Amino acid sequence: MTTQTAWPENAIARYLTVGGATIDLTHDTLQADDTEPNVSIVHCGGCLAYSSSEWRLHADQWGDGSNWADEAVRRWAQSHAETCRAIPKPA
Ligand SMILES: [Zn+2]
Repeated sequence: MTTQTAWPENAIARYLTVGGATIDLTHDTLQADDTEPNVSIVHCGGCLAYSSSEWRLHADQWGDGSNWADEAVRRWAQSHAETCRAIPKPA
């Protein structure tokens, strides 16, 4: 079962697609020399589609924007998981 595969160390959330692949939500850096995470990324392990959201575009008086960026990519992941029928190639 793909749901039994180990989560990446930095995965925050995981979605299971109808095809049986997983979509992982991670925080990453935009530039190689960025020292702190500043972007939320979801990546489909079935078809390799992905979506990202920069925190600074969502920053407001309540925070650095990570929560809103997470929310944006979670919506993408949920929607993609409902339609993606690609399956990952067995290791
Ligand atoms: Zn996919």
